Amino acid sequence: MSDKVGFVPVNEPLLNGNEKKYLCECIDTGWISSEGPFVKEFEEKMSASVGRKYGIAVSSGTAALEVAVQALNISDGDEVLMPTFTIISCAMAVTKRGGVPVFVDSDRNTWNMCVDQIESKITSRTKAIMVVHLYGLPVDMKKVMEIAGKHNLKVIEDAAEMHGQTYDGRPCGSFGDISIFSFYPNKHITTGEGGMVLVDDEALASRCRSLRNLCFQRDPRYVHEEISDNYRFTNLQAAVGLAQLERLDEFVEKKRRMGKLYTEMLTDIKGIILPMPKDEHAENIYWVYGILLDDYINIDNRSFVKKLGEKGVGCRTFFWCMHEQPVYLKQGMYDGEHYPDAEYLARKGFYIPSGLALTEEQMMTVCERLKETLNEVV
Ligand SMILES: *Cc1c(COP(=O)(O)O)cnc(C)c1O
Repeated sequence: MSDKVGFVPVNEPLLNGNEKKYLCECIDTGWISSEGPFVKEFEEKMSASVGRKYGIAVSSGTAALEVAVQALNISDGDEVLMPTFTIISCAMAVTKRGGVPVFVDSDRNTWNMCVDQIESKITSRTKAIMVVHLYGLPVDMKKVMEIAGKHNLKVIEDAAEMHGQTYDGRPCGSFGDISIFSFYPNKHITTGEGGMVLVDDEALASRCRSLRNLCFQRDPRYVHEEISDNYRFTNLQAAVGLAQLERLDEFVEKKRRMGKLYTEMLTDIKGIILPMPKDEHAENIYWVYGILLDDYINIDNRSFVKKLGEKGVGCRTFFWCMHEQPVYLKQGMYDGEHYPDAEYLARKGFYIPSGLALTEEQMMTVCERLKETLNEVV
């Protein structure tokens, strides 16, 4: 069955704009390191595109979260509220500093954190709320900002999957005291690896810049008051990023078109639940096209994704919940905690090929093989 000729990859980016031209400029001028001029230009254009004053480009979205947590001085015993259903980068950024991620369950419809559960989890040790916009619809930011204001909490906004998305018309990535993006190849725009921290406060921006670069001091350079890591972003990455950013609107439009087309093709199929096309605050941007297996389908997402892979369709399961991560359970954390809706998403959710290079013909193949697979398991 594993006929590779017809294999549809889960993600293939589009790199047919000015990427090559700008990369050649790096080579021709010799500017390949983080000191090159494209880095600053990319930071300025990217931050302007979401209405932020400062952008600090870093080596990944994960690095951006680490810088954000350290810049807000989150440390030993400080609690940070976040969804349990998210990528490990969110929890890890906090635990690396000695902080404690405290979880809330997910909304089964939007797949985002259940903001109504946030307040009941606040304690005297709570320092911040880390919101993570997941899969295509934004978190309910109005409620989050109200709670953060009322309890004097910082907001870290993970907009890694939300390039070009808005909440009530305001760009995602503009809400947090610190907001972050990722430029991994499956995001709407990519730099291969890469990320960015966005802030409006000048002092915070300069601290993030310092944290990105081992906390070198200007003078004397090799004396350090604090340590961080090397999270620098190269001119080569910025070259690709600038070319990608030129096409952001086009990419967002294409993702939305793809989302609508998948929904049309899959709409009458029993046994699966499709993503919400919109909610009160935004139209789905379909970072990837996620699907849930219905309760009565007696198979989990891992086995289902494996079957689709055997049919030549590259799929991925959804994230695995943070409170069920062996690395934390081994340390005695989250023992006995349960978040039923997040657990359901983690066990029944998966996404189908969604890269920007995907063709309509490939999408039709994906849907046919998905139907076949469902017929085999019901
Ligand atoms: C991709 C992603 C990240 C991590 O970004 P990397 O660049 O892969 O380190 C963080 N948060 C979310 C929600 C993501 O989707």
